[in-house]
Amino acid sequence: MRAAFERSRAYIELDEKALKNNIAVLKELLPPGAELMPAVKANAYGHGNALVTRAMESAGIKAFCVACASEGKAMRENGIKGDILILGYTDPAQFEVLSRYDLIQTAVDFSHAEELNKYGKQLRVHIGIDTGMHRLGESAENIYRLKEMFFMENIRAEGALTHLCVSDSDAPCDIEFTNMQIKKFYDTIEVLKKEGCSIPKVHLQASYGLLNYSQLPTDYARVGIAVYGMKSARSDYDKLNTDDKLKPVLSLKVRISSVRAIKAGESVGYGLAFTAEHDMKIAALAIGYADGLPRALSGGAGKVLIDGKRAQIIGRVCMDQTMVDVTDIPGVSAGDIAIVIGKSGSDEIAAYEVAEDAGTITNEILSRLGERLARIMI
Ligand SMILES: *Cc1c(COP(=O)(O)O)cnc(C)c1O
Repeated sequence: MRAAFERSRAYIELDEKALKNNIAVLKELLPPGAELMPAVKANAYGHGNALVTRAMESAGIKAFCVACASEGKAMRENGIKGDILILGYTDPAQFEVLSRYDLIQTAVDFSHAEELNKYGKQLRVHIGIDTGMHRLGESAENIYRLKEMFFMENIRAEGALTHLCVSDSDAPCDIEFTNMQIKKFYDTIEVLKKEGCSIPKVHLQASYGLLNYSQLPTDYARVGIAVYGMKSARSDYDKLNTDDKLKPVLSLKVRISSVRAIKAGESVGYGLAFTAEHDMKIAALAIGYADGLPRALSGGAGKVLIDGKRAQIIGRVCMDQTMVDVTDIPGVSAGDIAIVIGKSGSDEIAAYEVAEDAGTITNEILSRLGERLARIMI
């Protein structure tokens, strides 16, 4: 009954075996003693944080990272026991949340560290170091400021991190840049240790950092997209060819709500943006841009799978509905299932294909999958 209810409209199926497989495959790329610290921000890349983090914990994961304090709080409320690192800025107004829910905060620069230090109680902190991305982290050049951050009275510095920004590219200049970032990070850590800083945990790799620069001496790898078994884009550099070893965890499926015949010359949807050139059979799907199906897939840009065959999106994607051409797919009726991401028959639409069709990357498609979608672990 519950399953039928959850599958009544548009829904996400999560493959727990695939998730466990990916954890095992990625762990192999780490040196002994190092651990995965999966990135479960943005509702675990749209997969559903509660289901995913519980499954990860049962697979032995002991540390997670998220973007903001409210995500960490929600995980604690969901019973997650492991370490939770907040990667982004947290405002002093929310330091209470860090303390109450035992969250670890990234010091995103020197002045953030000063703010953290002013909070009356000790806070658990990882020190961010900027090695060239110029987003977050105190500049690696400012050794004495970094050192000061480690010694601030109310900062319990448990680690240090940097972020690689072109580790997904095999362009020689990008490989050179990444190697420069890696060297700068380890050099900085070494100097700080010589200056007397205690740095129990260091980490620098996200998914592509781990895939393409594996076995670096590290304590964690902050794997996001790879632990979900996906690539950010078809063309991404994947040195170890892990493509067929990592299995997609998520499938996005949708109920067909209505099937109808239209005649040549009749039009479909808002703006009457599509006009049939010949008699057609079309289907309405119970999913729209409010569910995260990009409106950019309108006008034939996107497709779904029905009975292993591709059905093109016609007209404009609506907020809650989308129409597709099923003229050449026999026997389609209301109540059937269409696949937006995932397998059907011998065909498969990878998430990066949907992203390509919409002019973006997999991560954006996934992270915007809506609240309204039911999530089911199978
Ligand atoms: C999101 C994020 C990650 C995970 O990135 P993926 O490329 O999805 O593996 C790791 N580290 C930081 C700092 C991030 O913001």
